[in-house]
Amino acid sequence: MEVNLSFHGGAGTVTGSRYLLSTGERRLLIDAGLFQGLKKLRLLNWQEPDFEPSSVDHLLLTHAHIDHSGYLPRLVRNGYSGLIYCTPATLDLAKLLLMDAAKIQEEDAKYANKKGFSKHRPALPLYTSEDAGAAIEQMRAVPYGEWLELGDGAKARFLNVGHILGSAMIELHLSSGIEETRLVFSGDVGRYGVPLHSDPMAPPACDFLVVESTYGNRAHDHRPLKTQLSEPIKKTFERGGIVLIPSFAVGRAQLVTLILRELMNAGDLPNVPIHIDSPMAVDATRIYSHHLKDDSLDENLSEDGRSRLFPSNVKFHRTVEQSKALNELSGPRIIISASGMLTAGRVLHHLRRLLPEQRNLVLLVGYQAAGTRGRALLEGARALKVHGREVPVRARFQSLQGLSAHADADELLRWLGSLEKPPRRIFVTHGEPEASQALAHRIEDELPARCLVPRLHDDFDLNSL
Ligand SMILES: [Zn+2]
Repeated sequence: MEVNLSFHGGAGTVTGSRYLLSTGERRLLIDAGLFQGLKKLRLLNWQEPDFEPSSVDHLLLTHAHIDHSGYLPRLVRNGYSGLIYCTPATLDLAKLLLMDAAKIQEEDAKYANKKGFSKHRPALPLYTSEDAGAAIEQMRAVPYGEWLELGDGAKARFLNVGHILGSAMIELHLSSGIEETRLVFSGDVGRYGVPLHSDPMAPPACDFLVVESTYGNRAHDHRPLKTQLSEPIKKTFERGGIVLIPSFAVGRAQLVTLILRELMNAGDLPNVPIHIDSPMAVDATRIYSHHLKDDSLDENLSEDGRSRLFPSNVKFHRTVEQSKALNELSGPRIIISASGMLTAGRVLHHLRRLLPEQRNLVLLVGYQAAGTRGRALLEGARALKVHGREVPVRARFQSLQGLSAHADADELLRWLGSLEKPPRRIFVTHGEPEASQALAHRIEDELPARCLVPRLHDDFDLNSL
């Protein structure tokens, strides 16, 4: 049986995940992610992929993050007419994230037209809300563990990988006569022993495994998350300051809220109001609470039938009026707002007010990509440009590395180490080149197993490996 695996994104970079599996009869695409970050990468979203979207039979989606799902509307618009399979919780989150991504594309195009800086007249969005709606129509939910028959001897199932709500690795069996090829695609691998999400399951036995390597050359801070969060916040309250936590809306905002609540219940932090000021985080929290029994979540997230993600001193701010009302409050408080890298959104209004005052704290809880205000802050900027104005940096700021939703290098090795036996090859993807190479070397030394680090557009005949 002829089987080819080609990499059309998520190779040499952490975004744009798109892996195409072709057998004689079938073409399966694993993830359809958007390229994000540097302009050179973003431009790739505008290039036609080097496979014909209409030639793909089935699409399997590991999780809802835009770097895995955000290309779906464009793919559907360009001719993909098959179904898109994912877990039930991923379907709910993807609706939220894809409609938001479409809105951003539309607003960017509108802004470019107003300012006249696009080479294209008129500037067009990469896709519209209608395109996103069409992609969502093609999505179908499949629960964890249930085999999905894909025809011609191909079947697949989703298994929990503990990264965000609904996140999965994908196990795929391709058979022809007595021949069978088994593959596992990791998606993004979560952490061990952290609150909110459950530990990743051990990967099932397979011939070929594709593993992410976002933190392939790094180690997270493994001190207890409660200690990491409580120390800087306590000091801020002692000097009468306000705490601003810029945060990703899906997963991170809920994790931070959960830990803060536990700290307050235990008396380790004063009982102050926590304000979640992000419509997306409010919606994501609601979706998390609808899926409290999902395999990807901790077992004890409900208390007397109520979601622990909606505790009484957490105030949700959905409308602009509710958000503005936050400015009128006095006293110590914690504000959690998006975006996590200070690139856009309501967090910028809070930044303008809180950054010039020494007693306040800006707590960065996620990865800060090159070129973002978050990164500038970490690199010691004396002022940040926000809404066209220079805002002096006088508040304290701190970056916490321990709250990542991705396994670090040791955790990836631990996850791979739970395989019954090493696969014939492990493809190391979804990382900056240094991170992927570093992880591949460790796997070859420590597991050991033979690795390949694919580059963008590489195509492998699996029978030859
Ligand atoms: Zn992810």
